[in-house]
Amino acid sequence: MPENSKKILIVEDEPSLVFTLKDTLEAENYEVVVVSDGNDVLDAVKSTEPDLMILDLMLPNRNGYEICEEIRRLKYTFPIIMLTARDQEIDKVTGLNIGADDYITKPFGVKELLARITARLRRANAYSKSGPVEILKLGKVKIDLNESRVYKPDDSVEELSTREVEIIEYLLSNANQPISRDDLLEKVWRYEYSTNTRTVDVHISKLRAKVEINPDDPRYLVTLHGVGYMLKIN
Ligand code: CA
Repeated sequence: MPENSKKILIVEDEPSLVFTLKDTLEAENYEVVVVSDGNDVLDAVKSTEPDLMILDLMLPNRNGYEICEEIRRLKYTFPIIMLTARDQEIDKVTGLNIGADDYITKPFGVKELLARITARLRRANAYSKSGPVEILKLGKVKIDLNESRVYKPDDSVEELSTREVEIIEYLLSNANQPISRDDLLEKVWRYEYSTNTRTVDVHISKLRAKVEINPDDPRYLVTLHGVGYMLKIN
């Protein structure tokens, strides 16, 4: 195994899919660990310290939501890509709200999954601890894009998901300009065809609750009716 290979933890109970995933990922030089029982996931996370996790939603003993939520509660920040059955739009929103970074709907193409894994790992890597410190100040709120944390003036701290950091980065690179929901879908949700503008709204709303002092009267992450959103900075 090459020293620089990334570890991927596959949590999936369907043997044929596990076989395909393991085979494909190992062919791409990833180190693969497989768990098929919901109850075994946390032990595997602790012993493996994966760089990324592929997490099926429906598993024996515990479901993917519970697992995802617990992993985030324990402050593990590696990207989580959830696997879900077709037509589970509501489940997607729930999953993203509890800390999954990405979604892929079964049945999916191996190339698409590989593209998303590469994108997630590249993103996680760009924001590793060794990267340059980048602090964005929105009034009295400080956003540390390296640590994915928001520091509020009342001393509370909010954690940002990988996706939320990407949204901020994209808005920041186009600060003080109107950005449409379609722009966000294209630039932030790159490879995903199953998302829609509601996905964007859900994320913006959650992000706003984290970065605005008064989310109902936002000063920085503003809505432009009929247009989209804008990050207002000085
Ligand atoms: Ca399953």
